[in-house]
Amino acid sequence: MTATEIDQRKLASSELREEVRAWLADNWDPDLEVTDWWRVVAEAGWTAPHFTPEQGGRGLHRRASATVRSAFAAYGALRPPGGLGLLMAAPTILTHGTPEQVERLVSPILDGRVAWCQLFSEPGAGSDLAGLTTRAVRDGDRWIINGQKVWSSQALESDYGMLLARTDLDRPKHHGISWIAFRLDQPGVTIRPLREMTGDAVFNEVFIDNAVCDDADLIGGEGNGWSVTQTTLYFERTGIGAGGAHAGFPDPGPKGGMIGRRAGDAALDPVPGGNLTLSVDDVRELARAHGRSDDPVIRQKIARLTTFTSLGAWNALRAKAEAARGGGQSVANIGKLAQTRIMKLAAEIALDILGADGMLGTPDGPGGGRYTHAFEFAPASSIYGGTDEIQRNIVGERSLGLPRDPNPDKDVPYGEVLRRSTTNGR
Ligand SMILES: Cc1cc2nc3c(=O)[nH]c(=O)nc-3n(C[C@H](O)[C@H](O)[C@H](O)COP(=O)(O)OP(=O)(O)OC[C@H]3O[C@@H](n4cnc5c(N)ncnc54)[C@H](O)[C@@H]3O)c2cc1C
Repeated sequence: MTATEIDQRKLASSELREEVRAWLADNWDPDLEVTDWWRVVAEAGWTAPHFTPEQGGRGLHRRASATVRSAFAAYGALRPPGGLGLLMAAPTILTHGTPEQVERLVSPILDGRVAWCQLFSEPGAGSDLAGLTTRAVRDGDRWIINGQKVWSSQALESDYGMLLARTDLDRPKHHGISWIAFRLDQPGVTIRPLREMTGDAVFNEVFIDNAVCDDADLIGGEGNGWSVTQTTLYFERTGIGAGGAHAGFPDPGPKGGMIGRRAGDAALDPVPGGNLTLSVDDVRELARAHGRSDDPVIRQKIARLTTFTSLGAWNALRAKAEAARGGGQSVANIGKLAQTRIMKLAAEIALDILGADGMLGTPDGPGGGRYTHAFEFAPASSIYGGTDEIQRNIVGERSLGLPRDPNPDKDVPYGEVLRRSTTNGR
């Protein structure tokens, strides 16, 4: 990207801020109930400004979303709803769903009426996601589902799960999987929180015991779940790469704690998830506040962080351009790796600056404990959305043309593979 293009982008961003500010001057009403406010916001296309107008957006660049949300915050208005539904489920359903599914499932995401979680990982299927064994068995025009999921972020606060289940054991591993819009509030679904080293319990394990879904809840059709999943993972990785997963959006849905409140009161809440990541500006400010801006080691590390941040932002633009040309999957993988590096380095610099005080992760510690919290959370970025090793494998195989892992069972019915591994005592 040339300097002129960067200048134009900055100009576009300041014009957008001004447009949002003018819209808020006409529309922000702190006395509205949150659901009513979010409906107004969604109708104007501000929840997902990067979606096309037909999809409920404004046809803007993906990074416009961050500009819009910070413009809402600067104005003092309640920001649009966020969540994994917006990040992953909505774009997946828009890509693969029928018009009926889009109508039924996407609108409630855009106006924050429902929350979604991702039910992909299982105790025996993480990096090797296609090895999942949760089963869905047809029963007339519905499906009976049994299995277990794990590491399901925010499942306890969600209404729907993006569920991967095996619908055909007679087909090879990657072919008998379906992507299901799965209702969590039903008999047979048990959700148990798991405590993380940050002290939070965002994760859950989800047990599914004879729960059901309708045929109409299979997105992309029966057995096409693996290709639908690639779309979900693409949006997860580009979202994380663009800093979107933890960028601090209000939680949607009836269990998110926002609905039923006065929008003006909800707008005063601290940024949710805002203590999980640190930006280069946060770190620069911390160095200044602690008189460490002239420390050559800290300066050098901040320069590295600034460089990584700019590269990450440019890579996100590249991903967008490549996607428009119909490719670019591995650019998303590079973006995810870049964001991981940024999160870890930013947290490390913060703790270097704080020294022994950095051990105080309690509310009475520096920054209310946010620097320590970000440091404790940073290792997770190498795992969620696919581990660093898996991202590198994909870049190696798909972009650099390195040989793929041998896969002798590629065309063998997965039921047979499972039977064989059980017989081998695995
Ligand atoms: C904060 C957080 C949030 C998460 N949220 C969700 C969620 O909402 N929904 C969800 O479904 N999952 C979620 N996950 C789970 C995450 O997707 C998995 O943890 C991840 O895919 C890795 O799977 P695993 O934990 O089973 O590790 P494994 O797959 O068992 O991997 C163990 C180690 O082996 C390495 N490894 C495995 N295979 C290879 C290979 N072929 N080549 C080289 N190295 C390899 C891995 O890189 C890793 O270091 C979350 C995880 C975290 C940390």
